Amino acid sequence: MTRAGAVVIGGGLIGLSVARALAERGIADVLVLERHQLAGGGTGKSSGIVRAHYGVPSIAAMAWRSQPVFEELGAEVGFRQVGYTVIVGEENVDPLTANTAMHQGLGIDVELIDTDRLASLWPMLNVDDVALASYEPRGGFADASQLALHYGRLARDRGARIRQHTPVARILTEGDKVTGVELDGGEVVDTDLVIVASGWWSAKLLADLGIDFPVEAYRSELLVVDAGVPLPDLPVVSDLVSLQYCRLEGQGQFLVGNSDHADFGAKLVDPDKYSNIASEASIHNYAEKLIHRFPGFPDPSVTHSYAGVYDVPPDWNPVIGPVGGIDGLILCAGFAGHGFKISPAVGDLVADLVIEGDSTDADIPARDFRLERFAEGEHLSSLHPYVGAGEMR
Ligand SMILES: Cc1cc2nc3c(=O)[nH]c(=O)nc-3n(C[C@H](O)[C@H](O)[C@H](O)COP(=O)(O)OP(=O)(O)OC[C@H]3O[C@@H](n4cnc5c(N)ncnc54)[C@H](O)[C@@H]3O)c2cc1C
Repeated sequence: MTRAGAVVIGGGLIGLSVARALAERGIADVLVLERHQLAGGGTGKSSGIVRAHYGVPSIAAMAWRSQPVFEELGAEVGFRQVGYTVIVGEENVDPLTANTAMHQGLGIDVELIDTDRLASLWPMLNVDDVALASYEPRGGFADASQLALHYGRLARDRGARIRQHTPVARILTEGDKVTGVELDGGEVVDTDLVIVASGWWSAKLLADLGIDFPVEAYRSELLVVDAGVPLPDLPVVSDLVSLQYCRLEGQGQFLVGNSDHADFGAKLVDPDKYSNIASEASIHNYAEKLIHRFPGFPDPSVTHSYAGVYDVPPDWNPVIGPVGGIDGLILCAGFAGHGFKISPAVGDLVADLVIEGDSTDADIPARDFRLERFAEGEHLSSLHPYVGAGEMR
């Protein structure tokens, strides 16, 4: 039997950012328990895009609070500050304009740009069906695994312990209080504070306590495309006309992901057992969109594909906060495709909840992220949703 000041279940980016923040704020003897290896879950598949463009103000604020971390760490976490653009057709000019104004109100460095400016930033981009774009010059992309391991190191430097290949079998309670966790094999760790940061797998741990965390596992395919020509630094493109996103990968290659969530039901999977390559049909679909959007690539070819799994709550936004009326139990999961860029602020919010009992940032109200919102039908939704772009933004 061992004891810990706090137990974090899950050694992905979120669990490690939480461990880092708790240790930094003086919580002694934080213990991270990871069933496999660090960053081996959704974190290891992340496209790592850094941007603050969200339709939910508190998520946009979290992304913006996290921005300086990428700028300070730079190459240490593979950050390339190439900028970030959202491009829309006529049908989405109003929401883009409204969202950009909302972002500017939060202090985010973003502007609307016309297609001439877009074409000058992005020489090989077809802008024929683009009506307007927003541009975040401080956006870009980085490496999620590197950020996770960096947070693991910071946590350890401040006294945290990390145990890999250590699955938690169940969370232990007495009355309405957390008392510890039991590991596979029966070992018990005593603690008064458990943070469940286990992605989609959090639902099982909570269900054993009678707590319903509605979350689904959604498979998303990615292609790596060789442009056939060396590429200069080009902004990340979130293409809400063709419903795809693209960013540089290394030199001369491009990572392409899907933003079309219409066939959601068909892509629900078991995250412990799913195909890790794109289907032929997807490759054709992506290729058509790519050739349309990037006619300037002289000889594009798909070098390889892979797939990752999003943990998706009903409104595509995370739960961060106490659950089940059990003292000392905090859930921090359901980050879908957002968790990387907001992970620094998420760790800080959890530390605020533990130490201050509430968020200390007026732009990031803890109430937004409560689990009860699903049962109450008060989903955390975009203020200015995009036509055809689903819940992702
Ligand atoms: C394909 C893809 C692309 C993405 N692109 C972006 C992007 O461009 N920008 C962005 O901001 N976000 C992006 N994301 C989202 C982001 O990567 C995730 O939200 C984030 O990495 C999730 O981190 P996590 O720690 O919550 O989950 P995970 O990384 O899945 O970590 C959870 C961990 O918990 C462990 N675990 C589970 N059960 C137990 C147990 N019983 N005991 C112990 N350990 C357990 C798992 O093994 C796992 O390591 C993307 C995600 C995917 C899948």
